[in-house]
Amino acid sequence: MFDSLTQKFSSVLSSLRSRGKISQNDIEDTCQEIHQALLEADVALSVVTSFIDTIRERSLEVLPTLQSGTNQAQAIFEIINQTLVEILGAEARRISFAKTGPTVIMLAGLQGAGKTTMAGKLAKFYADQGNTPILVASDLQRPNAVTQLQVLGQSIGIPVFAPEPGNGRGDPVQVARDGVQFARVKLHNMVIVDTAGRLGVDESLMKEAAAIRDAIKPNEILFVVDAMIGQDAVRTSQAFLAGVGFDGVVLTKLDGDARGGAALSIVQVTERPIMFVSTGEKLADFDIFYPDRMASRILGMGDVATLAEQAKKAFDPDTAAKFETKYASGEDFTLEDFLEQMQAMSKMGSMTKMLAMLPGAGAMKKQLDNFDEREIVRTQAIVQSMTIAERRDPKILNGSRRARIAMGAGRTVTEVNSLVDRFSQAQKAMRQMRSGKMPAGLPPAMTGMGAGMGASRQQVMNVKKSKSGNPAKRAQQERG
Ligand code: GDP
Repeated sequence: MFDSLTQKFSSVLSSLRSRGKISQNDIEDTCQEIHQALLEADVALSVVTSFIDTIRERSLEVLPTLQSGTNQAQAIFEIINQTLVEILGAEARRISFAKTGPTVIMLAGLQGAGKTTMAGKLAKFYADQGNTPILVASDLQRPNAVTQLQVLGQSIGIPVFAPEPGNGRGDPVQVARDGVQFARVKLHNMVIVDTAGRLGVDESLMKEAAAIRDAIKPNEILFVVDAMIGQDAVRTSQAFLAGVGFDGVVLTKLDGDARGGAALSIVQVTERPIMFVSTGEKLADFDIFYPDRMASRILGMGDVATLAEQAKKAFDPDTAAKFETKYASGEDFTLEDFLEQMQAMSKMGSMTKMLAMLPGAGAMKKQLDNFDEREIVRTQAIVQSMTIAERRDPKILNGSRRARIAMGAGRTVTEVNSLVDRFSQAQKAMRQMRSGKMPAGLPPAMTGMGAGMGASRQQVMNVKKSKSGNPAKRAQQERG
């Protein structure tokens, strides 16, 4: 997400930091570079111009008050960050609930934007918070849209109101109206209405969406837009704003090769907030949109707040308390704990996406791209093939035990060896954390996985600087 923009911002900022004393010319150069980067990222010209003007004006205003040295660059960086947060909408906005009766949310947008998928994600998100949503299948145009919503609803245990088969048949306005009435009678407190899109903006699409809007009077109309369509996202959103109107924006496919243009332009152009984002096809690939966190990611500072929230969700309080007690009592971290942490981490979703939220992840892009998500499954299989005694004390893992484990897990002995090495590193990291030599933060399982990112056993061994068994080589190592 926004990879090239993040890289450009990082290089602009590091060149700013490398200057001893920042002059007016340096500020002008920085503005020019950001201007270029934003245009390349498909940000609307009007937004780029006002963004740059604000940065220039604010920077020139503070410049005379700054002492020379690195904090000058830091102050300019803060200005860029703050201005970026503002163009992304400044504050996160939540759905406003109806005072009486069900809260009605209508999803509108082009075909393929991700409305149906988002309907499921929203229903799950609000159901998890104690609401009782139903989904209404008013997209009677796109082939299989009704079935897709039914399957989705079933998978998350949310009722789907779908009286018409779709595929071009049935009256979507009537379905929407009846759906809301059904929710009212059955005392559901939320209705999420999926509507039809077209391949492009056209008269009939706008008419249908406007008729549904008038029939159900939604509390929130959310415009769902594919972030990958760049400048078109801005044009489409303007057309929907004029034709149907909407209260908030949902940006989808931010996991793709989005250049950032849509996210950075849409709030200013439509004067509507981005409320949710979708970062993949799976239900878990869903986030509330926080302008400050997004700005932080774009500037390469990571998104530790979201990462921490996800970790909190994945580690249930009992497991967290157990680890805390263990940690405090000085007990050793075992392969059983490693397995448990890894299972919790896989509940957090894609490892690559999580690691990408760390500050400086932009610089690790290559490793992240190479990271194989199946690594977790393989690692789990290996640990599960061990006996309890082996998991608690990996030192007893001799050659024949390792061969048995490899066979049981369907992996090679080399892979078993590599896991044991990575585990010892994680165990060591845990000990260091306890003795205060390393900041506590990431679960050791993650540190261990990190070491495993594309690293071979040999590379891991090199990190540990083990002494060679070969006397000539050892002598050479010692000289080195
Ligand atoms: P609709 O026509 O607006 O209802 O669109 P769908 O919900 O059917 O989504 C269209 C396609 O995009 C489907 O294949 C979805 O799985 C996929 N999709 C939806 N959201 C995302 C996302 O955030 N990332 C990616 N990569 N694919 C998505």
